Amino acid sequence: MKKRLLIANRSEIAIRIIRSAHKLGMLAVVFQSDKEPDALYLKYADEIIPARDATTEKPIFLDAERIVNLALEHNIDLIHPGYGFLSENPDFAALCTENGINFIGPSATLIREMGLKTVAKSMAIEAGLPLVPGSDGAINDAEAAKVYAEKIGYPVLLKASAGGGGRGMRIVEKPETIERHFKSASDEALAAFDNGDMFIEKYLQNPKHIEFQILGDKHGNVIHLGERECSLQRKHQKLLEEAPSASLTPEMRKDMGDMAVRFAKKIGYFSAGTIEYILDEDGSFYFMEMNTRIQVEHPVTEMVSGVDLVDWQIRIALGEVLTLKQEDIKLNGWAIECRVNTEDPQNRFSPQTGFIDKIHFPHSNDIRIESGVQSGSVVTPYFDSMIAKIIVHGSNRQETIEKTLAALYEFSLIGLKTTVPFCRAVLQHPEFVDATYTTRWVDQVYTPEMLENADDEMIGALAATIMYASEYLQLSSDLPSYKNDSLNVWVLNKRLNY
Ligand code: ADP
Repeated sequence: MKKRLLIANRSEIAIRIIRSAHKLGMLAVVFQSDKEPDALYLKYADEIIPARDATTEKPIFLDAERIVNLALEHNIDLIHPGYGFLSENPDFAALCTENGINFIGPSATLIREMGLKTVAKSMAIEAGLPLVPGSDGAINDAEAAKVYAEKIGYPVLLKASAGGGGRGMRIVEKPETIERHFKSASDEALAAFDNGDMFIEKYLQNPKHIEFQILGDKHGNVIHLGERECSLQRKHQKLLEEAPSASLTPEMRKDMGDMAVRFAKKIGYFSAGTIEYILDEDGSFYFMEMNTRIQVEHPVTEMVSGVDLVDWQIRIALGEVLTLKQEDIKLNGWAIECRVNTEDPQNRFSPQTGFIDKIHFPHSNDIRIESGVQSGSVVTPYFDSMIAKIIVHGSNRQETIEKTLAALYEFSLIGLKTTVPFCRAVLQHPEFVDATYTTRWVDQVYTPEMLENADDEMIGALAATIMYASEYLQLSSDLPSYKNDSLNVWVLNKRLNY
C-alpha cells in the first residue's frame, strides 16, 4: 500500500512537495481551499480534500485541529507543512505526532525551542557560536532596554523573541524613542505570536544575511550544504537569493559551516533546517536564528549541491539514515533565485490581485521554474503575493547573473505587475554585480527610476490587449491575420528592448 502524504500548504511549494512524494512512491493529498478553489496545485495531487473554509476567516492551512481531523478521516500517514502557515508551529507538530501522523520536520520540542529566539540564542552560546552584542535573554521593559542600549550603543534593534517575517522588530536610533518603539514592537508581537517577549541587539548598519542549509537525521548524523546569501530584502523579506555567497572567504565558509553543524548536533536536530547568520562589514559574523522548516530559497542550494532537500526531509521523517557525508557534498557553480511576486515595484511594492491573463516562463537546461500559477489563474488577496520562483544555474557568478537576466527578459506576464522588472534592475546594479550589496540596498539604493522601460511594461500589456481584441474580432469578421503577426513582432521587440 502506498503511503499517503498530506500537504498542509498551497501554491508552488505544494507542487514541489508533490513532486518529491511521487518520486518516493507516495500518494500526494492536498486541501482545496474555498479561497482559491481553482488553484494550480490541485491538478498535480492524487487526492483532494475539500476544506470548506469559505465561511471561516482562517484558511484551512492555519487551522491545526481541522487539518489533523481531516487527515485522520483520510488515513494520512505523513504531513508536510511546507513553509509559512503552521510549518514552525510546535503545537501543530505535537498534534500530528499525538495522533499517530508523521510530521515532516523536527520534533515539536525543537521547533518550540528554536521558535523562541532568546532560547535559541542561549543554546547557541552553549555551542560556542558568536552572537550579536545584546541582551542574552528576554528583557522585561523599556527601562531595561534602555540600560542595554546605553551599554552596546545606539542604534539598537528591538526584536520579538517569538518573531518571524520581520514582525515585532524596531530599529531605535536614540534613547528618546526607545520607550515608544518597545511598546509598539511588543504589542505587535503579542498580537501576532501571542507572546510579547522582547530582546535587544546592536543594530548592524550594513550587514549581509548569510544562512547555512543543514540536513540531519534521527540517528545523530548532521551535514551542511553550504550557504545562501539572502541580503536582498525589503522590510526583512527576501526578494532574491544566491548560492554560494561571494562575501565569504573559504575560511569563513568553513568556520560558519562547522559551527552550524556543531550547533545542530548539540541540539539533536533532525530534518532540513537553516542556521541564519548576520555578517558585519568588518567580516565578523554572528548567529541570528535557526529556521526549522524548508525555506522558500532552498532550490539555489539544490542547484549547486545536486541534493534534493525535500526528498531527504521525507526520508528522514521515515527514519532513514542520512547516507550523505560532509565530504560527499561538492558544490558546483552558482545559482540565483528571483521571487516573482505580484507586487508593483513602481509603487512601493503594493500587492496586485486579479487575473493572470497570460504567463510565459523562460526555458533552458539551466533554468528551474517553481510556479503556483498558469495563464488564467487568479491571484487573490487571501494569500502571499509570491506566485513563482525563477532559479538559474551557471558555472560562475557572472555567468549566472547574465543567464538570469536573459531568463527574466524571456519571462512575461500579462494582467498583473510583478517584481520581475525589480529583479532585472538588481541584477544590473553595480553593487549587485560586485557583490557589495547589503540588507539595506532596497531602502537606501533602490529607486523606481531604476526600472527600465517601466512604460514599456504598460505598452506591452496594452499591445497584448489589442492583440487579443483583434484575435477575438477575427472570429467574427475577416481581419487579415498579418495584423496580428506584426503586432506580435512589435510586442516582442519591445520586450527585447530593440
Ligand atoms: P525574522 O525571524 O522576523 O525574519 P530575523 O532575526 O531572521 O527576523 O531577522 C530578519 C532580518 O533582519 C535579517 O535578515 C537582517 O536583515 C535583519 N537583522 C536582524 N538582526 C539584525 C541586527 N542585529 N542588525 C541589523 N539587521 C538585523
